[in-house]
Amino acid sequence: MHVPIVKSILTSNDQIAAENKAVLDQHGVVAVNLMASPGAGKTSLILATARSLPAALRPAVIEGDLASSIDAELMAKNGIPVVQINTGGNCHLDAPMIRSAFPHLPFGEFELLLIENVGNLVCPANFALGAHLALVVASVPEGHDKPYKYPGMFAAADVVVLNKVELKEVFEFDPDYFWRGVQMLKPEAPIFEVSCRTGAGVAEWAAWLAQHVAGVATQNT
Ligand code: MG
Ligand code: ZN
Repeated sequence: MHVPIVKSILTSNDQIAAENKAVLDQHGVVAVNLMASPGAGKTSLILATARSLPAALRPAVIEGDLASSIDAELMAKNGIPVVQINTGGNCHLDAPMIRSAFPHLPFGEFELLLIENVGNLVCPANFALGAHLALVVASVPEGHDKPYKYPGMFAAADVVVLNKVELKEVFEFDPDYFWRGVQMLKPEAPIFEVSCRTGAGVAEWAAWLAQHVAGVATQNT
């Protein structure tokens, strides 16, 4: 009887995810589920992206962490509305957690919700949150074989950002091998190469994101 129980939990997660999406659409908010392994630079990418967005696209953030509010405090310090979710050891965010964060968000004061999932390249892909876009962030020090080792995550990606590209030579990173791995799993997913440290590529990525958000927002009106 174990399998039917698991299935029913997933179904209710999907249902709540759909309700979350409806709430976001109602408020004209487009949400991004940002997934990566620990240390890929999720928080740095959020901060760099927020700085590069057009003024009319105001971000808010949900920070998912096993424990602590270090990343959330960094957002708050940068003037970005933020809600911290501590999963209490759970290795992914789920739709009920996102729903519980909604009452704490200043709806009406932001158009883009960046959800930083728990650092983990496995199960976050299996739990819908109600986001409009799945963003997978990889980084050069993790190696060019990431798409081959975590196919589920990359297959779930709508867009991939490769961070820390300034370290390609140091880590003998083969971008062609990485790109081929992503394209095999998700041929239509655009890939952006950025360095949150030097700022390289961030403007291009942020411009694409802003354009994508505008497209989703138009569909919803
Ligand atoms: Mg972080
Ligand atoms: Zn998990």
